[in-house]
Amino acid sequence: MDIRVGLGFDSHEFEEGKKLVLGGVEIESDYGLRGHSDGDALLHAVTDALLGAVGEEDIGQLFRDTDERWRGVSSEIFLKEALERVASKGFSVVNLDCVIVADKPKIAPYKEKIRENLSRLVGISKERISLKGKRTEGFCSMSGLTCICTVLLKGER
Ligand code: MG
Repeated sequence: MDIRVGLGFDSHEFEEGKKLVLGGVEIESDYGLRGHSDGDALLHAVTDALLGAVGEEDIGQLFRDTDERWRGVSSEIFLKEALERVASKGFSVVNLDCVIVADKPKIAPYKEKIRENLSRLVGISKERISLKGKRTEGFCSMSGLTCICTVLLKGER
């Protein structure tokens, strides 16, 4: 069986007054994430993990932040494109393991909702999606947050 592993990483700075969206779920916060799109760093990390696993260009190359088409759009568009590229190469997703590194806001109250939404978006059961919220105790994430994702793919052919 052909298997592939992918790793995605994304960091965004906080922006006051913007909506905070992680994994496609709106999170109550005074700050959103600065970005050309909706700034959903978790979906960006998942997208990059998928693209990396099948050797495609990364999210920044495929969806340039100078392209007006992507201004303010939902990052679900990027994820959808990555999933299509994965499927077109004959692979399907086995599982995702994600970490949100943030000192604020608290991720725990939204964890199940985010897992459910990722399950819907990626098309795998919630049991195959892990999400962990981690704090840095103020060392490095006070002005933004970071998301990391690994993905395992299996070949269908
Ligand atoms: Mg990003």
